[in-house]
Amino acid sequence: MTEPVHTGGCVCGAVRFAATGTPARVTICHCLWCQRRTGTAFGTEVVFDDAQVAMASPELAHYRHVSDESGRWLEVAFCRRCGTNLGFTLEARPGIRTLPAGAFDDSSWIRSDALKIRHVYLRSRRDWSELSPAVEQYEQHFNPQ
Ligand SMILES: [Zn+2]
Ligand SMILES: [Zn+2]
Repeated sequence: MTEPVHTGGCVCGAVRFAATGTPARVTICHCLWCQRRTGTAFGTEVVFDDAQVAMASPELAHYRHVSDESGRWLEVAFCRRCGTNLGFTLEARPGIRTLPAGAFDDSSWIRSDALKIRHVYLRSRRDWSELSPAVEQYEQHFNPQ
């Protein structure tokens, strides 16, 4: 059986990625950091192993943020030309890489009946963002460390 390959990229097209296989999970994060970095109510991160994701472009840029809560870093990736969010890696979970659900060319495969999807950090959820009852919900992280 061939593994599915899901492609995506930034708005301007300078950065493209391909993710092979099924992600471990999808995390919809309502923390204040995700609200700020995305400019919306939450970040929707599809979580892959590093080895599943191919992404290379001279326009790919990174910014390392140190959490004032955990003291650990998260490194966001973005297109330096158009600024599109391209997911992140994090010190707390070595070897994984997230890709934002909205950056896939076709995200119809990201469904709550097919993948493990969790809402996390609901303690800072905006009251104008509705939650699907089909998705697990956690006040903080599902696996606090
Ligand atoms: Zn771009
Ligand atoms: Zn977050």
